[in-house]
Amino acid sequence: MKTAVSSLPMSALQALVAKAGLERFRADQIFSWIHGRGVTRWDAMTNLARPLRERLAEEWMIEDLVLDRQLDTEDGTSKLVLATGDGHRIETVLIPEERKLTQCVSTQVGCRMGCRFCATAQLGLTRNLTPGEIVAQVRHGVAWAEAHGMRLSNLVYMGMGEPFDNYDGTLDSVRILLEPLGRHFSTRKITISTVGHIDGLSRLSREDLQVNLAVSLNATTQQVRETIMPASKRWPLQALLETLRRFPLEKRRRITLEYVLIDGVNDSDEDAERLASIARSMRSKVNLIRLNPFVGCPFSPPTVKRTERFEQLVRARNVTVILRRSRGSEIAAGCGQLALQPGPDRTSH
Ligand code: SF4
Repeated sequence: MKTAVSSLPMSALQALVAKAGLERFRADQIFSWIHGRGVTRWDAMTNLARPLRERLAEEWMIEDLVLDRQLDTEDGTSKLVLATGDGHRIETVLIPEERKLTQCVSTQVGCRMGCRFCATAQLGLTRNLTPGEIVAQVRHGVAWAEAHGMRLSNLVYMGMGEPFDNYDGTLDSVRILLEPLGRHFSTRKITISTVGHIDGLSRLSREDLQVNLAVSLNATTQQVRETIMPASKRWPLQALLETLRRFPLEKRRRITLEYVLIDGVNDSDEDAERLASIARSMRSKVNLIRLNPFVGCPFSPPTVKRTERFEQLVRARNVTVILRRSRGSEIAAGCGQLALQPGPDRTSH
């Protein structure tokens, strides 16, 4: 079986290059071709001699995803359906905002966390994506940006799957994306969003890697949270909050608490008060978003009036709160809607 070099962070690629008896600088060249310039064919790597290219093509492989279809909305959001080498389909979403272009990437084919307000949960988990496959989504995102005269500025790990359920795949992909010879993202431009996977958070807190952190909170009591997010039985609310309060944050960084508002479930005045008090107990800000219903979703979003009252109640307690506009909902690309389902077609967090 060929070695998937596109999944290797620089240090691992250097080790592989040394083991293969190649000069050390070959690692820089290969990394730069794949992750800097987005080249996925060995024969296009013109600063490698032909015999070397032929040898590498026999022994090593570069993972790629094939664009299956692209679904655009009037608000400029675009969903790319991408096919893996073994025939699975995943989705990534591009979201242009004023001076930013954010890409939402997937980390798994499906998801096993079972959140009841999320379309991806209905798929169950097929498999983890490799680091090379996660990075390949960004390659497509960069191509999309160039075609639209934009620059990809931000990445959110908020697509299909729970990033910490694929911890190594997620972290290796981040390391590849930070590399100066690759896309050279800043850690401030990358956000990992988790269901509240305490084991993953604890591991991340010991890494020398400060990416932004977002946590799908979605409820202020254990009882409600475990009803809509079964993963909360394994990682209970109080333990999660303690983990977040202890999380070593760099100066000026804050944890984003994501809160999907669901009519009659988590949108009461008491919820707003408890949410504010949770947010004030740590360095955080709150992102509110109204539920995006999908086919078969058992819940509905609160009214706009109810949503605005909730936002005001949280803000009145001196919490930074942003009511996020749902982008791309007409193509099933909104938060919680990625599930390769009718959209016009079929991929969330
Ligand atoms: S919200 Fe995220 S963690 Fe929950 S089921 Fe959906 S993709 Fe998985």
